[in-house]
Amino acid sequence: MKKILFFSPLLFLFLFNSCKNEEPEQKVSKPLYTLKDNQQLPRFDAANAYAQIEKQVSFGSRNPNSKGHATGLAYLQNELKKYADEIQLQPFSYTGYNGEKLDLTNIIGKFNTAAKSRILLTAHWDSRPWADQEKDSAKHKIPILGANDGASGVGVLLEIARILKIQKVDYGVDIIFFDGEDYGRHDDLSNFCLGSKYFSSRLPANYSPMFAVLLDLVGDKEAVFMKEGYSYQFAPDVVNMVWGLAARSGATQFVNQVGPAIYDDHIPLNQAGIRTIDIIDIDLVGGQTPNKRRNYWHTLNDTMENISKETLQSVGDVLVNFIYSLQFYN
Ligand SMILES: [Zn+2]
Repeated sequence: MKKILFFSPLLFLFLFNSCKNEEPEQKVSKPLYTLKDNQQLPRFDAANAYAQIEKQVSFGSRNPNSKGHATGLAYLQNELKKYADEIQLQPFSYTGYNGEKLDLTNIIGKFNTAAKSRILLTAHWDSRPWADQEKDSAKHKIPILGANDGASGVGVLLEIARILKIQKVDYGVDIIFFDGEDYGRHDDLSNFCLGSKYFSSRLPANYSPMFAVLLDLVGDKEAVFMKEGYSYQFAPDVVNMVWGLAARSGATQFVNQVGPAIYDDHIPLNQAGIRTIDIIDIDLVGGQTPNKRRNYWHTLNDTMENISKETLQSVGDVLVNFIYSLQFYN
């Protein structure tokens, strides 16, 4: 990402009904899904998620066309293949700055492929080609490691994938690692979110997951997850379900407050009709927090030192609780 934007009038809501519909009768059809307490939640192992982040970072920067990008692609597809029932790659090329031809690939893992009711979980796997938030402009063209910006979301979802293989759910889950999220120069939204734009512009026929959850910047030691503004506009019921579970499970990183809105991979998905929320540590964006250690967004300091297993555990616990409590009505 990302740029913080003001709410745009372009946004339109697809408000399906959910369990939260308690107001006196609007035009309510039957709820489509609900959360139901599950006493047999599998255990999210933050050490695995952490190791998966470390592994990605060990490849170096995974910016498009780099060696780390090629290694990362091979590694991630192989990992996801271990767990998913089916894997698909969505390769595409894109003409970037100065005519540079980028070879990009979205990595898609499907669980319970035959199920009609589905949800989508996603993160971006590329890392940023420019450390353009470095104070020293001589460093602006150096690619970043993206431990938090990219690798953290993928690390959490790989651990979720491992769990989904062991303990099945009765609906379908798709996991997509988008490429090219972080390619754009600072003020050029047209060159951000390349993978999610590509995917969203050619959705497979009949593909309409009930909603999607995007993870971005989810590993910081002192993470703060406010309810991201666009998420709350597009899918308030999903936001409230997730933050409600977080509150009940004592995941204090999740703050019950609507925060700023941001352009991230959830925007192309929402525009294509897939209601998507973004779990994101939005305070990191812009590098303006009073906590100096946390001002590493889009700099060379986006490294493993900032990542904590405690945060990964909280995010993972909330997601596991959500995934294994979710029930679809038929
Ligand atoms: Zn970024």
